[in-house]
Amino acid sequence: MRPVRALISVSDKTGIVDFARELSNLGVEIISTGGTARLLKEAGISVREISDLTGFPEIMEGRVKTLHPKVHGGILARRDKEEHLKAMERLGIERIDMVVVNLYPFKETVKKGASLEEIIENIDIGGPTMVRAAAKNYAHVAIVTDPSDYERVIKELKETGEISLKTRFYLARKAFNLTAHYDALIAEFLYSIDEEGNPVNCREMRNPLTITFEKVSDLRYGENPHQRGAFYKEVFIKEPCVARAEKLHGEKELSFNNIYDLDASFGLVTEFDPQTDGIACAIIKHANPCGMALGKTPEEAYEKALKVDPVSAFGGIIAFNAKVTPEVARLITERFYECIIAPDYDEEALEILRTKKNLRVLTTNGLDGLERRGVDSPFEYRRITGGLLVQDRDLITVDPEKLKVVTDREPTEREWKDLLFAFKVVKWVKSNSVVYAKDGVAVGIGVGQTSRVDSARCAAEKAKMMGLDLQGSVLASEAFFPFRDSVDEAAKVGVTAIIQPGGSIRDGEVIQAANEHGMAMVFTGIRHFRH
Ligand code: 5GP
Repeated sequence: MRPVRALISVSDKTGIVDFARELSNLGVEIISTGGTARLLKEAGISVREISDLTGFPEIMEGRVKTLHPKVHGGILARRDKEEHLKAMERLGIERIDMVVVNLYPFKETVKKGASLEEIIENIDIGGPTMVRAAAKNYAHVAIVTDPSDYERVIKELKETGEISLKTRFYLARKAFNLTAHYDALIAEFLYSIDEEGNPVNCREMRNPLTITFEKVSDLRYGENPHQRGAFYKEVFIKEPCVARAEKLHGEKELSFNNIYDLDASFGLVTEFDPQTDGIACAIIKHANPCGMALGKTPEEAYEKALKVDPVSAFGGIIAFNAKVTPEVARLITERFYECIIAPDYDEEALEILRTKKNLRVLTTNGLDGLERRGVDSPFEYRRITGGLLVQDRDLITVDPEKLKVVTDREPTEREWKDLLFAFKVVKWVKSNSVVYAKDGVAVGIGVGQTSRVDSARCAAEKAKMMGLDLQGSVLASEAFFPFRDSVDEAAKVGVTAIIQPGGSIRDGEVIQAANEHGMAMVFTGIRHFRH
């Protein structure tokens, strides 16, 4: 196809002057709309106004400029159909062989926090209509939507005098990809507000069919070197999280597994409010904590977390819910870690961390917005072969008012504190999981065994290996105990209180076991399976 006439109407004007000039030099007539036409004319390019082609002025502040049969007839006409060609001739419709359009900046307008009115005004109507029309008619028309394709198109035109079917098909696919994404973003945004523009809690309101992500980058590989990998992020996300985090240091790129583990680590530490609960430090390996503790300072929390399992901590990921201090930075550089993530860093701490070439240092730039969790990104997706599992994120927290003590004995004040701590930690451990806790330290973490009793045993044995004393500790289980065996195991190592969802048909037996051992037991009514 040798283009005779091109319609150019772009919001993003990157590279458009050079592209239009080349087209013009190749003998292509340029038709253009308001702002684009003005820019091209100023650059000395000969341009015909769209109103000259349509015989109809641009109206309503540009809301209607290209929505005209002379435009859409010129784009959609099949050049291989007698009847289409006759209609063009009869009605004076001129062929448009190339459409160069990119769309109003809807996403950018939302992101800059514009008013609802301005956002709505930035829903492009004429643009996508032309893009879709030209893409549908790719057999005869070229649709150029991406400035990075200008060079390719000009090169081909110069070399062959034509735009090949192959190129037109490539461009058409891209065009429908663009309009699909554009409309999905609009739908997603509208599902996040009410009719007055106020944010809504999307647990009720959001449309699970609208899943819009944008590629951040390709990754070196996926979970394993033979798997390809890439990183996508949600478009309108506002909460502090790994997808929005900024890398302050570290030459090596983040890997697929790094990002996954960073997410798990930051999720865990932000269960705790640094002001009321204390400063939390988590050390993560393969998405599970191998160390987790609270402290008055980051260094206290870190040292306690490290003691839980210094062997596993090697090559791990560290997260804090508070500013990283020089003291803790110094301790961290004594050992090998992959990444660290925190809401903030002391300048001196950063200097110290920067001495480790390969340590990736990430900041979420604060914790503001965590309370918006569940409003901004409610869903979690798990790909299965041939499908997608979608669920709410597990963002529920225990309401202390709703906890039920089921044993003869009430937990002591110290036990209560550790029980609540342990139940928050166990939520972030792969099932079946149990966590032993003592004085704000997860002294035993039982990870991902196929039976609960095995998790309890493994964690206890490991604690013993690490020289940690479980005497007087508490135990959290992410799901109910199907049998009394785990309670008996816990008693053997000195556990004095247990927290668990409850709800087993053998709850009676389990409670009786606790009473026999003089333990306190609390039911949460909340289960935290994590696969
Ligand atoms: P310009 O800067 O040339 O005035 O405007 C370019 C933008 O207008 C492009 O992003 C294009 O998608 C959009 N556009 C083209 N025709 C129409 C139309 O008829 N209505 C609306 N709302 N936008 C249009």
